[in-house]
Amino acid sequence: MNTRPCADLRDDLLAREARLRDELRAHRARLLEPAAATGNTFVAGSEGAAADAEDELDITLISHWQRELDEVSAALQRLNTGSYGHCERCGEPIGLPRLRALPEARHCLDCQEQADRAVHRT
Ligand SMILES: [Zn+2]
Repeated sequence: MNTRPCADLRDDLLAREARLRDELRAHRARLLEPAAATGNTFVAGSEGAAADAEDELDITLISHWQRELDEVSAALQRLNTGSYGHCERCGEPIGLPRLRALPEARHCLDCQEQADRAVHRT
């Protein structure tokens, strides 16, 4: 049997955590200095509108990455406390193929499908 099935998943999570932190830092810095980042000072009209749209895209990306970073950090926390790889809902082990596809998964496939169904049922 595989003794340390989570070792490479931890590396993966750590790499993604570092990358997400970098992306977030870069985009937050860009939002604070929009004029310097676009480098366009001579066509204020349409470029200004485009810059606004870009800012909105940045804000969307930042909140998306922040959520992902929270999930990745929580997964690393679970790795440290030893609860990693177990479904937070039913406590059953989460399948390794699922963890490889989604290392920060909190729920087993069954529970995730039930949760997704609950969300989509309106
Ligand atoms: Zn479950």
